[in-house]
Amino acid sequence: MELFDLIIIGGGISGLGLAREASLAGHSTLLLEAKRCGEATSNNTLRIIHGGFRYLQNFDIPRVIRSLNDQSALITEIPEAVKPLPCLMPLARFGMKSRIPVTCATMLYGGIMRITGSPLPSPTVVSHHTIQRDVPLLRDQAPHGALCWYDGLMVNPSVITAHLKSQIATLNGQLREETPVESMRRDGAHLIVTATTGEAWSARHVITTLGPFLDSIDTPQELQGPRPLWCRGFNIIIKRQLDPTYGISAESADGRLFFCVPRDSGTAIGTWYIPHLDISVPPSVSEHEIAQFLKAFNTALPTAQVATNEISHIDVGILPMHGTSTKGPNLIAHEKIHEKDGYVEVLSTKYTTFRSQARAILAAAKIG
Ligand SMILES: Cc1cc2nc3c(=O)[nH]c(=O)nc-3n(C[C@H](O)[C@H](O)[C@H](O)COP(=O)(O)OP(=O)(O)OC[C@H]3O[C@@H](n4cnc5c(N)ncnc54)[C@H](O)[C@@H]3O)c2cc1C
Repeated sequence: MELFDLIIIGGGISGLGLAREASLAGHSTLLLEAKRCGEATSNNTLRIIHGGFRYLQNFDIPRVIRSLNDQSALITEIPEAVKPLPCLMPLARFGMKSRIPVTCATMLYGGIMRITGSPLPSPTVVSHHTIQRDVPLLRDQAPHGALCWYDGLMVNPSVITAHLKSQIATLNGQLREETPVESMRRDGAHLIVTATTGEAWSARHVITTLGPFLDSIDTPQELQGPRPLWCRGFNIIIKRQLDPTYGISAESADGRLFFCVPRDSGTAIGTWYIPHLDISVPPSVSEHEIAQFLKAFNTALPTAQVATNEISHIDVGILPMHGTSTKGPNLIAHEKIHEKDGYVEVLSTKYTTFRSQARAILAAAKIG
């Protein structure tokens, strides 16, 4: 039986990022993916590579730095896959989202961007007049002006998947697609991983990056980490281009946040989250849920008035959550990494930070 330093199970962005990082560090690595890499949750995102501006609301500076570093690295490494996206958020008259606090935040964020060497322009506050002139979608929505900042927008996640796969191969990492893992068990100092095909491999460390498919593998109970609650998230993709240039943020009266971004010749609007209590049920979206989404979105951004017959498709995925509040599910902010005796379970919450997440996993796994 072939022996590896590390076997990774699950070839979404988390598993791919980890396989590359582990191979770079010189560990013999096998990545096993049930279907095709990057085609589950990682293919259904809103495609934003966040720079973490919003984490300033909680003064979470380490998280801002981490997002900015990961964002810059991805834009620099695969410029054809991630394009700079100027984004707008209308300012409020009072409170944390009003002009003075937001201007202070732009100065702080601009300083952090310079220190981290971000290749993107610094954020600014733009006037009501400029918005009225340049952004018809927000013409009545920004009487106090708007914050303009830059995020990255993935042109197509499959470009990133292909790039990581080729790097893993170059670094002599092994990758097997169409290889669903059935079980994992301990045998002395090693862990044995068995696929549904009957093939088996052995490793000193096994890491699962399975997202919501965490329980698709038969694993010894004593090694498993705590199970989260789950929620479905979905984005509606419409054929109409709401704005050709900007990512636009809008908030409904009940505090639901929407973000519209250009996608091909149309627009992706997201994200709506709903508790998904039975993880064995594949995620889907009902007509009622679509109607609720559009009603709230059209209230948040009345100039858009999106109708059901404009929808080209819906992207849906599952994410871990803490629980729910009146504003909907409370998503888990940071990835969760559980390590026990050489076995590690990872729950990712962001595509953007796959690189720093990989480093955190390797540190937690104590592979040396
Ligand atoms: C609607 C939505 C919008 C989002 N938008 C953004 C965004 O704009 N920006 C951002 O940074 N993040 C976003 N996210 C979060 C991001 O998508 C996830 O954090 C990330 O994609 C999770 O990747 P993963 O590799 O952990 O999981 P997955 O991509 O789900 O990968 C798990 C893999 O495991 C494989 N697998 C399952 N069972 C087995 C088995 N038995 N054996 C082997 N392999 C198996 C699956 O086939 C799959 O490929 C969004 C999430 C959702 C749901």
